[in-house]
Amino acid sequence: MDCPSCHLSAKSIFHCLVDCPFASQCWRKVGFQLNAGETSIFASWFRSSLCRYSKEESARMGMMCWAIRKGRNDLIWQQRHSSVDETVNLAKHSLDQWINAQEFDKQPPIGMIVPGDGSEHWVKPQENTIKVNVDASIAIGRGTFGLGWVARDHTGLLLEVHGRSRNGVVTPEVVEAMGVKEALSWIKSKNWPSS
Ligand SMILES: [Zn+2]
Repeated sequence: MDCPSCHLSAKSIFHCLVDCPFASQCWRKVGFQLNAGETSIFASWFRSSLCRYSKEESARMGMMCWAIRKGRNDLIWQQRHSSVDETVNLAKHSLDQWINAQEFDKQPPIGMIVPGDGSEHWVKPQENTIKVNVDASIAIGRGTFGLGWVARDHTGLLLEVHGRSRNGVVTPEVVEAMGVKEALSWIKSKNWPSS
């Protein structure tokens, strides 16, 4: 199968996240020197990049990989094209939220990260409890919608991530309610102790 973004017959992880013209443009946009050419194996590239960059830059790099990957998934599953700017902004925004969700008393460590306004501030649950956040999306005009949820513990550690895609035309209120319903069924199936 060809790459859904550039239509070359290359579908390795390295191509998806680094070598694909779309990915390269994203990396250039955020000012990363890729040093591709050293390797075409993603794990080797990522490891050598981690050695080269600071902790904060590594965090930005990880989030950029995630955002590029998400853009590809949207393209494959929802035929939704994300621009380079959208992808880069998604990575920045998500990293910002993640940093916000860490220790409150810690300042964001670097000036490169634009602090958020705090309006979407994830708060850790009480000790020995698990927090599940649910979200939903509608592919307008395509008759499909998506539901997803993430479970995190009191340290903020990501435990599980789930997503479902469904066919149907629904309102935002209904799809949000369906997301909560599915997440509740899933929570029930986990048989977590209630203490
Ligand atoms: Zn490609």
